[in-house]
This record gives sequence, structure tokens and C-alpha cells, in this order.
Amino acid sequence: MSISRLASSINESPTLALNEKARLLRVKGDPVIHLGGGEPKNKAPVTAVLGSAAKLRAGDIKYAPTDGLPSLKKAIIRYTEENYGRLVAPENVIVSTGAKQSIYNLLFSLINPQDEVMLLAPYWVSYPEMVKMVYGIPVVVTPEDGTFQPRMEEIEASVSSYTKVIIINSPNNPSGVMYPDSFIADIVDFCERKGIYLIFDDIYHRLTFDGLQPKPAYEFTDKDVENSRVIVVNGISKLYGLTGLRIGWTIASRRLVEVMTIIQSQVTSCPSVVSQAAAEGALTGMQSVVDNLRLTIQNNRDIMMQELQTFSDVIVQKPNGTFYCLPDFRAYGSSSLDLAKLLLDKALVVPVPGADFGMEGYLRLSYCGSVKDIIEGVERLKWALDPNAPNEIYIGDRKLIRDWL
Ligand code: PMP
Repeated sequence: MSISRLASSINESPTLALNEKARLLRVKGDPVIHLGGGEPKNKAPVTAVLGSAAKLRAGDIKYAPTDGLPSLKKAIIRYTEENYGRLVAPENVIVSTGAKQSIYNLLFSLINPQDEVMLLAPYWVSYPEMVKMVYGIPVVVTPEDGTFQPRMEEIEASVSSYTKVIIINSPNNPSGVMYPDSFIADIVDFCERKGIYLIFDDIYHRLTFDGLQPKPAYEFTDKDVENSRVIVVNGISKLYGLTGLRIGWTIASRRLVEVMTIIQSQVTSCPSVVSQAAAEGALTGMQSVVDNLRLTIQNNRDIMMQELQTFSDVIVQKPNGTFYCLPDFRAYGSSSLDLAKLLLDKALVVPVPGADFGMEGYLRLSYCGSVKDIIEGVERLKWALDPNAPNEIYIGDRKLIRDWL
């Protein structure tokens, strides 16, 4: 078989690959604990279920306008006004099949071959691959001070005449860290002056803890949506735990939305109308579901932090939001992939190697599962790695003895 050079150069999503591996082990009956996932356990909000059920019952399941159902776009406009303080027009909104497709379509619409897209490490795994898929060049900026906070000096030093886009994801997958408003103000100002597109991947923007709330990027620019370089991507996957519906959206200038619509029309025609109806239900229904989810996840975060603190030689920054933390496991080996494989083999726990997020030696651990899984999962990690932990552990009714330290 002759696969294209481009396709051959694209790496599989490690998180999806790990999901599959964990699923297969579970099917075999192995008691795997999955600390690699990126979706909460909640049931779908009832208004989402009713929305899609009504659509199905009506039997009206045809192609829809490529850029999204007008009624969903209306709900997104309201969401944008309430959460971002910006009134945008329907022509500034395009609905896609997940925020993932929104970002891909944006990059497809903006990037010429060899244009550079700046990613701030730690970054979401899919960004570099998506950039490569449109023949762009990912340029990674890693904070030199070992924090997960990007610094303007480092960004400015890495910007070149080819820099077309910078992607910001705050609160951040995988670190859970939220960037300070002062940084957002500075980078918006910088990009507006330099004419660099600034994509805000805001998929976790309401999943923040301890009363923290990120200020919308629009607050830091005096340009309107037609003239600003600020682009906002959002979706329902994380906020409502509706990952399987695959609905995301972009807020951008009319011209950019027009181009993205042409691209989308040639690739998928439109996002599923059943999913769009469900998304509308979620956005217009009771928003207490988001608060409940946030509080549950915040509690899980606290438990994860408590558990990790009992681990010798693991340093972790307390997340401000998302479902993830990114502890430093460098004391236990330099290759995060080898470490993740060892943990899966010996302790039946799935973490995600930090190398995939541009942070070698770190592991991403999710706390969106059950409290029991968090506690038992970290206990198993400790047993596998920490010489101070007890030598024996029970996994189900199997007694395991550590014999590799
Ligand atoms: N951006 C980030 C940072 C994510 O973590 C994810 C999902 N893991 C996405 C985008 C994609 O979300 P969606 O399910 O809407 O495609």
C-alpha cells in the first residue's frame, strides 16, 4: 500500500489510543483504572436528550445549513453575550463537528504551507498534528522557569515573520493551569498589533475552580469581531459532558466564517442535526448542570491533590480548572512513555505520557472519573514506583508484590 507522506507523518491521538487499550483490557476482565480520559461521568442533561428526541420524533433529519441550524446559532449568540459580553451576528458563528473540527477548519482556512503556528507547552496533543495536516509548522514555546505559565518575553523571542497563529488553551489541557488575565491582556495586545491570529480554545472556560473565572479575551481589545485577530472556539463536550454529540463552534469575522463554511461544506456538509438539536437543548436548558459538574470535578481535583501529596518525589501544580493535572514524575525515569507503559503493565493504571503534550518526564492524570478510581489509581502508582510505599497490593483479589525496585 502506498500511503501519502503527509498521512504517514501524522501521529495517532495518544489519548484515544489509550482509551482503546484500556477498553480492550477491561473486555478481557482486567481491572484497569483509566486516569487518561477526558470526559466526565455525568448523564447527559435532560434538555439535551429532549432536544434530540424531539428532532428524531419529528422525523425531520435532513441536511441543514453548513454553518449550523439557525436556532442553535441563536443559542450560541446568547451564550457568547452572557459569557463573553460580546454581541455577535449569526454570520460570525459556525457550528462544527466538535471543537476539534472547528480548530482544524480554522487552521485550514488560515495557514499557507510553511506558515508557523505557535503552541505553548504544555499543549493539547492534537494541535501539532493538526498544524502538520495543513502543511504548517508547529513552533513550541516552553516556559523556561519550569512553570506551566507562558511568558511574553519567550513568546516574543520565538515569533518570526512566518508566525500566523498562536493557540491559547486556558484553563489548559493537560496542566489544568489557567493563565493570568494580565498575560491574556498582553498577548491580545501583542497579536492585535502584529496581525497574528489568536485562537482561544475555550473548551474548559467554565470548568474552573475556587471561584476563579477567566476574563474573556474580548475584554482586552477595542476592535470589533470583524477587525480583531481574536478568534474563540468553544463547544459542549466538556461543559455538559456531551463528548459523544460532537458539537463545537467558532466565533470569528464574517470573512473567516465564510471561508470555513466553504471548507466544511466540502468535507462534512453540516454537523449532525440530531446533535445540533441536543446542543441547543443543553445551551438553553438549566445551567445548574454545569455548576454541579464543576463542583464534582473540583472535589475530585482536591482528592487527587491530597493523594499525590503523599507520593515522595512527585511535584504537582494545583489545577485551576479542567479535568487534568500534570505531575512531574522525572524522579522516576526520563521517558514518560516508558513510565506509562510500566504503569499499565504492572499496576493496570492508564496515565497519558507528558511527552505527547510537550512535557517529557511528566504524566497527565485525569480526575474526571470516580473518587474510588482516583484514590485506588494513585495508590497503585505509588505501589509501582515509590520505594517508600508498601511492597504488596491487592488488585481485585490478586495480591501483587513489587519486585522491580
Ligand atoms: N480542545 C481541547 C484542549 C480539548 O481537550 C479537546 C477535547 N479533548 C478539544 C479541544 C476537542 O473537543 P471536542 O470534543 O469538542 O472536539
